Amino acid sequence: MAERRVRVRFAPSPTGPLHIGGVRTALYNYLFAKQHGGDLIFRIEDTDSNRFVPGAEDYIIESFKWLGIKFDEGVSFGGDHGPYRQSERRDIYKKYVQQLLDTDKAYIAFDTPEELDAKRAEIANFQYDAQTRGLMRNSLTLAKEEVDKLIAEGHQYVVRFKIEPGRDVLVNDIIRGEVSINSSILDDKVLYKSADELPTYHLANIVDDHLMEVSHVIRGEEWLPSAPLHVLLYEAFGWADTMPRFAHLPLLLKPVGNGKLSKRDGDKLGFPVFPLEWHDPKSGEISSGYREKGYLPEAVVNFLALLGWNPGTEQEVLSMEELIKLFDLSKCSKAGAKFDYVKGIWFNHQYLLKQEDMDWTPAFDKLLKENGVDSTPEKEAQVVSMMKQKVVEYTDTLSGQTKKRNISFVSDLWPLTKFFFVAPDSFDKEDKFIKKNWKENAAADMSELADVLETVTDFTVEGMKAVVDVWAEQNEKKPWNPWRVCLVGAGQGPDMYELAAFLGKEETLNRMRYAIKVLG
Ligand code: GLU
Repeated sequence: MAERRVRVRFAPSPTGPLHIGGVRTALYNYLFAKQHGGDLIFRIEDTDSNRFVPGAEDYIIESFKWLGIKFDEGVSFGGDHGPYRQSERRDIYKKYVQQLLDTDKAYIAFDTPEELDAKRAEIANFQYDAQTRGLMRNSLTLAKEEVDKLIAEGHQYVVRFKIEPGRDVLVNDIIRGEVSINSSILDDKVLYKSADELPTYHLANIVDDHLMEVSHVIRGEEWLPSAPLHVLLYEAFGWADTMPRFAHLPLLLKPVGNGKLSKRDGDKLGFPVFPLEWHDPKSGEISSGYREKGYLPEAVVNFLALLGWNPGTEQEVLSMEELIKLFDLSKCSKAGAKFDYVKGIWFNHQYLLKQEDMDWTPAFDKLLKENGVDSTPEKEAQVVSMMKQKVVEYTDTLSGQTKKRNISFVSDLWPLTKFFFVAPDSFDKEDKFIKKNWKENAAADMSELADVLETVTDFTVEGMKAVVDVWAEQNEKKPWNPWRVCLVGAGQGPDMYELAAFLGKEETLNRMRYAIKVLG
């Protein structure tokens, strides 16, 4: 058989914000498509109108735009296999439902919910299948005239898949190998409901994958139980030859403990489980997003790519290009991947530091404005250059302890850089650094240093150094820490010459005179 063109799809149901696990699924589809020169399709599976949430579709599209995951076809992208929204494909599905009915692969069932409940009460572990369908009200047990009459009278019905029992159904999964399941355990799934004239997920999904010429179905592990049914549907339609290959991705697991990653884990430990902030249109609840939390899209992509797959080397920081080259679907793990959100923070640090200092300034400027500071991109970039290698304190949500880590978000900069923009207006005399470094001769030394600085005309690092270093050496002074008290008000910050040069002569001298006055 000739190699098929690689065509994969990401097919979310617009039932809310895109979960981070869905983002990983889409990313793996993207990497796989790109590495094979194939196509990635964006399909909206909205046949369950009860679960439809307005805004979800736009949210999903915006998420991928932000992440740099590009689709070749689909809702909002165009293409010649459309429409790509399932609610706009009703007529197509009807035709294929009819095909299954005509070929005796499916049947019409009239059982009301009450009748089904009664059967469940009567028969232990009742399942609608080859053993029980003969006891029910359907087109297999009723005369054709009766069926036609019921439909003509407007009785609601469903179409069920007629599964032949006792067959071993093989699912050949790229990640999991051959999975075999006996068809006797499957029930006669509902494929179509007359009530809303819409197919169910299973039928629409298979028909669309076929019509859209999908070659590989890469999706989350939670869909693995549906795969045998899907295989049988391809056969029933006579499409077994072009059935896509399956790959069911490993689950994303809680960072601690067992089980699937949930929104609650994120709320508890303080990390987002959604790419973008989500405003629930019904409850008004706001859920945090990676973008708004200050993550860079490249960092999120890199972090997610390694949840369930790795290149088999030590290299962890991988660009999209490298990921496309190295990704190997068959090497994805079967076991679930722990969602190590701390690693996500580490990735953000890596990608922040890869940026030019200037690239930090839009977010930094916003942060400063929020804190009432007006500055310029040039000044901001200077501060970034002086401070980006520093560490910050943070509260570890797991242990509740205060720990230190590298600057990982632009927002980490504010407490670390406030003094560049705002002069200290009070001094904490109990502060360890101040206590230790503001001794009885400090005020006199600082006055002398201020006088010396007054004479410096070239107020650059070199210009100051040439004068101040000489003064310090000749007079055996060590002015650095008291000077830091004056300009910073605490034991932090960059090299003192760099700081003074940044502040300029006037501001430097003002801060020194103020400290001398206040601290004495
Ligand atoms: N609509 C399904 C979802 O929401 C698609 C599953 C599949 O990829 O087959 O994930």
